[in-house]
Amino acid sequence: MADSKIIVQKYGGTSVGSTDRIKAVARRIKSSVEKGYSPVVVVSAMGKTTDELVKLAEEITKSPNRREMDMLLSTGEQVTISLLAMSLHEIGIDAVSFTGSQIKVLTDGNFSNAKIQSISTEKIRKSLESNKVVIVAGFQGVDDDENITTLGRGGSDTSAVALAAVLNCNMCEIYTDVDGVYTADPRVVERPLKLKEISYDEMLELSRLGAAVLHSRSVEFAKKYKINLHVRSSFKDDKGTIVMPREEMMEKLLISGVTTKLDESKITIRDIPDRPGIAAKLFELMGKNKIYVNMIVQSTGHDNRASISFTVKKSDFDEALKLCNTLKDELGATEINAKEDIAIVSAVGVGMLSAYGVAGNMFHILAQNGINIEMISTSEIGISCVIDSKDAESALKAIHKTFLEPESK
Ligand code: ADP
Ligand code: ASP
Ligand code: MG
Repeated sequence: MADSKIIVQKYGGTSVGSTDRIKAVARRIKSSVEKGYSPVVVVSAMGKTTDELVKLAEEITKSPNRREMDMLLSTGEQVTISLLAMSLHEIGIDAVSFTGSQIKVLTDGNFSNAKIQSISTEKIRKSLESNKVVIVAGFQGVDDDENITTLGRGGSDTSAVALAAVLNCNMCEIYTDVDGVYTADPRVVERPLKLKEISYDEMLELSRLGAAVLHSRSVEFAKKYKINLHVRSSFKDDKGTIVMPREEMMEKLLISGVTTKLDESKITIRDIPDRPGIAAKLFELMGKNKIYVNMIVQSTGHDNRASISFTVKKSDFDEALKLCNTLKDELGATEINAKEDIAIVSAVGVGMLSAYGVAGNMFHILAQNGINIEMISTSEIGISCVIDSKDAESALKAIHKTFLEPESK
């Protein structure tokens, strides 16, 4: 089987949301087969199935066992793979479905956020050689002890790109319910612009900062293994957006996207001694407890005292706050403030590398709209501000309007 004939396609939840949609996906796969490709297809759970499974667990317990939660959530994708295989059989295409564990998608044991370590291609290649379409359950893997793991919400994108990497494909198609990557979430902003192309770095920043259109680890894999991602609609044939190396891009926009992240919380530890070792103690403790810290800002006050503010995922908020309180006396802090609901609004673009005044302009837009900035962080190609969650939508719209809808200014 020549690797150049293998094509990895991923279909998301809405695209396989009903049996009619699964049949439509089967027809699309059939047309790829007729063009001479050997498709390896990754699918998500149907529609809102994963959310419904989460709700079922919540009806039983507030703190589900993490292993059992992954066991539960992985079932959604298993329904889709079998129905899609049956749909292909119905239209005369030979196909076989596999769960993550059947093709040995080996991950670490970090339930609900597992990282892929390796994938065996043996079964996939054998099936492709006997002219079968291979259908793989996204979002799931198996750890060393044969426990089922999941890769984090939205993780099917990552399953697809990881498969493209091990199968030496240089293109992976991500079929979804939008026809490409836009300058902002089209469900929120009225006049978003569709991007023909976007660099890995910008897409990575946007997806880390809240743009749900791609799982951020899928972009990391794509960058590492030089796989172009084609984000496109499963409902039409138009070309979508290509996520590609920065060097190969034709146009480099000042701002290529604006996004908000809502599932974050903020903790501030006030009035701690400004001396070596304090931040290390705090963040080592977070790391030991597998709490992922996103933004960190330290400010120095009077008399060698400092404050540290940081953000964590909302799901880690209670645990992070508890840990901070256990350290309060040891750190010599006087006060811990916490805010469970914050939003991070960000603007991202490679053009920022060589432009002045973008940060000032963004802060000005927020001020004009009466939005207070609680924390600021910048990278080479992005600016992020922590704001009150109630202001998230108006901040996104205002920043998008000024930077990306110039004619409406
Ligand atoms: P799938 O189930 O196909 O993986 P997702 O819901 O995970 O689909 O991702 C697609 C959604 O991402 C779109 O419906 C859109 O609302 C949202 N989205 C957020 N930011 C963007 C963006 N910048 N461009 C396109 N879509 C975006
Ligand atoms: N079904 C999983 C989710 O809803 C994974 C995915 O769709 O990518 O998060
Ligand atoms: Mg998704």
